[in-house]
Amino acid sequence: MAKNINFSCRVCLSKKIQEFKIVHYGFVTKSENWKSFFCFECGSVSEFKIKEKEITYADGTYRDNKNHFNTKSDDEKILPPIDFWSAISFKRWAHIWKVLKKSTDIFSNGEIKMLDYGGYNGFLPYALNQKHKINSFVADLDPKGLDTAKFLGSNTIDLSKNKINEKNFDLITIVHVLEHLDQPKENIIELKSLLSDEGVIYAEVPNLYGFPLGDEAHKIAFTQYSLVKMFHSSGYEIFDYGFTKTPKESIKFDYYYNHDLENLFIVCGKKKRSLSLNVPKKKIPETIENFKHVLMLKYSQIMLKKISSTLLRTSMRYLRSFILFFIYGLVDFITLKIFKVSIVSKFFKKR
Ligand SMILES: [Zn+2]
Repeated sequence: MAKNINFSCRVCLSKKIQEFKIVHYGFVTKSENWKSFFCFECGSVSEFKIKEKEITYADGTYRDNKNHFNTKSDDEKILPPIDFWSAISFKRWAHIWKVLKKSTDIFSNGEIKMLDYGGYNGFLPYALNQKHKINSFVADLDPKGLDTAKFLGSNTIDLSKNKINEKNFDLITIVHVLEHLDQPKENIIELKSLLSDEGVIYAEVPNLYGFPLGDEAHKIAFTQYSLVKMFHSSGYEIFDYGFTKTPKESIKFDYYYNHDLENLFIVCGKKKRSLSLNVPKKKIPETIENFKHVLMLKYSQIMLKKISSTLLRTSMRYLRSFILFFIYGLVDFITLKIFKVSIVSKFFKKR
């Protein structure tokens, strides 16, 4: 047990933090193995695993342990060639491409040199490469992910063994990575030195006020202010920021937390531009009780307005299909039994 850890905010390093615990059954929070702190300086949440081992990425077991097949026994647990979730997160490329096209001009030049930091299987550069010529590098700890990235045409950098020696990247993407890190500011300062003068960074993370805290691999929950502030105070110019969500197909895998405020994104770079944005207004709850109240109120609004409507729409779609199949089956069964022909086929002949 790490009794003597001197806790501070993982995002802004402030000591103005306070421990909290929330019990919620819709937005599940961390187990008792964790300590959670709210930061009154930047408004983010930092979490520390104080019991049991932290998740490791370098041995490739992180994703193997995700049970996306919902198998009941170990005996049935066979790993697919790619993680199901990768197929969903693959579609994130569309939003990333649109945002970059809108807020930067990186696609107006020739070949782009791209680094997908924590890019796992290289699906993002694989997608973008179909839109624009890209010389991509995928840096990750997961050896299986890197094998796939290489197969799909990216150069790979195994961060468990090597540093990133390449420089002058036109585009660096950090998609759902920063929330896994101990102190991401160190990483984003390092990445700035790898960016070309005109280069841009796109980063995406879960939103504290839109995504459950319970994920065992997440150490930080950002707010819009804390994310933008972190990049700004690391010397970046801010070109765009806002909200984004997991592709809607995730409902097919029983993931229904996708809604408009689910994730945060930011686009930034080194050089000031006419469209450089300011850091958004700082609005931070003043007491820990106030924070818990704001958070739980947000959860209730999301459950009521977003998740419920997604589930209702999906169930109505299945209900309609159910009725069609049930009535067709029933009518055909009866007429085939009595008249030996299918009434449906007889009367609704294709023209
Ligand atoms: Zn902070």
